[in-house]
Amino acid sequence: MTILRHTPKGEIQERSALVINPAKTCQPIGAMYAALGIHGCLPHSHGSQGCCSYHRSTLTRHYKDPVMASTSSFTEGTAVFGGQANLLTALQTIFSVYDPKVVAIHTTCLSETIGDDVPQIAKKAKEEGKVPEGKVVFHANTPSYTGTHVTGYANMVQSMVKYLTQSTDETSEHAAILPGWVEPSDMREIKRIVSLLGVEYVMFPDTDGVFDAPMTGKHVFYPKGGAKLEDIARGGDAKHSFALGHVATTAASEELTKLHKVPGTVVDLPIGIAATDRFIEAMRAVYGFEVPESLNDERGKLVDLLSDMEQYLWGRKVAIFGDPDQLIALTEFLGTMGMVVRHIVTGTESKYIEARLKEVNPEANIKVGGDMFHLHQLMKNEPVDLLIGNTYGKYMARDEDVPFLRSGFPILDRQGHQHFPTVGYMGGIRLVEQILTLIMDRIDRDVEEHKLELQM
Ligand code: SF4
Repeated sequence: MTILRHTPKGEIQERSALVINPAKTCQPIGAMYAALGIHGCLPHSHGSQGCCSYHRSTLTRHYKDPVMASTSSFTEGTAVFGGQANLLTALQTIFSVYDPKVVAIHTTCLSETIGDDVPQIAKKAKEEGKVPEGKVVFHANTPSYTGTHVTGYANMVQSMVKYLTQSTDETSEHAAILPGWVEPSDMREIKRIVSLLGVEYVMFPDTDGVFDAPMTGKHVFYPKGGAKLEDIARGGDAKHSFALGHVATTAASEELTKLHKVPGTVVDLPIGIAATDRFIEAMRAVYGFEVPESLNDERGKLVDLLSDMEQYLWGRKVAIFGDPDQLIALTEFLGTMGMVVRHIVTGTESKYIEARLKEVNPEANIKVGGDMFHLHQLMKNEPVDLLIGNTYGKYMARDEDVPFLRSGFPILDRQGHQHFPTVGYMGGIRLVEQILTLIMDRIDRDVEEHKLELQM
C-alpha cells in the first residue's frame, strides 16, 4: 500500500524491460485448471516442487478447495541430466498410488529450458509397463517465460483435441463446445443454455462439479465433475465446434478442424447481451432452431433491469484489467450499460486482442501486455468511478478510494465466483446487480445526510 502511494501522476514512461505488479500469472496454472476439467485426471507438473506448489496453491486459494496435482520434483541434478528419470518414476508412482484415469503432463520453465522430450518419455513409460492398460498420458508444452496463464489453458485444451479426440468418419449431429477460461459456474451456465437450445453437445474441459464439489463428509480424490474421456473422444465426430473466447480456444478449434475436419466457429465469451446473442446466433446458423421463449424471457429481464437502472450507470467511468477474452466482452457490455470504459490493461500480449479492444472501444486508453502500475498511473491521470479486475486490484482501489468489482482470476478474498455465473443473460443480471450495488453503496456513503434516499 505504502509503495503504491508513490505511483507518479503525469507523463507515462514506456517500459520494455521492467514489469511492476503484473496483470497475469504463469502458463502451467492455466494448464492445470484445464486438465482438472477432465474427469479422473491428475495434472502432472514436469518441473520442480516449487512450481507445482505455487500453481496448486493459487488455484486452491481462488477456489477454497484442495487442488490435486503431482510433480516430477526436479533437483539440481535433474537440471543437469534432464528430467526423464524423474518422470518415469513419477508415472509409476502416480498410477500405483493415486490411480487416475488420465495424467495430463504440463512442462515448466525449467523442463522447457532443459529441452525434455515429454512425448518420448511418456512412450518409454508405456513400453516399460509403467502406464497400466487403458490409462491415458498426454502432455502440453507450457513454457512460462512466454505467454500467460491463459496461453497455458489454451495449450492444454489444444492438446486435449490433439491426443484425446477421435473420429469414426461418421459425422453426428452433436456440437463440440470449447469453453474459454471461465468459472465452473459459467461452464454450468453454458451447458444450461445449450441444453435449452435443444442441441446435443460434448463440452471440454468442464470444471463444473470439480472446483465447486459439495461437502459430503467423504474424501473423494477425483470429484464427480469433469468431461469424461469418451465424451472428449466424440469431439472428433462433432458436426460443428463452438469455441468461446479467441485467446483461450482458437488453437483448439483449429486443431479440431485440422485433425477431424470439424468446422468451427470462434466467438467472444458470451458475457453481456450482444456477446450472448452472437453465441446463440452462431449456433442457430448451424442448427436452425427457434430460440426458446424461456431464453428470450431471460434476455428481456436483463434489458428490463438495464432500462430501469440506467440513470445510476450512465456516463460513469470505469478502469478494467484482466484476461483478454473477458475484457473484450466486458468492455462491450459496460458500453451497453451506458458506462464509459476509460482504461483497459491486460497482461496477455496479442495483436488480435489489441485490435478487437480498439474496435469495441476506440476511445479508451488500451495497454495490451501491460501491468497494474501502468493502470494505476492512468487512473491517477484520469480518475474513474469503478475499478474492475482480480483481487490484486484492491490496493489500487483503496489508494484511489474507488469502488472495486472483483472479476477474473485470481479472486482470493471474496466468495461466490465459483457458484454464480457471469455468462449468458442470467450472468449479465448478476453483473449488473453487482455493479449497481457498488455504485449505490457509494452514493449512500457520499451523499449529504438530508439527501439520503430510502428508495432509489
Ligand atoms: S514462472 Fe516458471 S519457474 Fe516460475 S512458477 Fe511458473 S513455471 Fe515455475
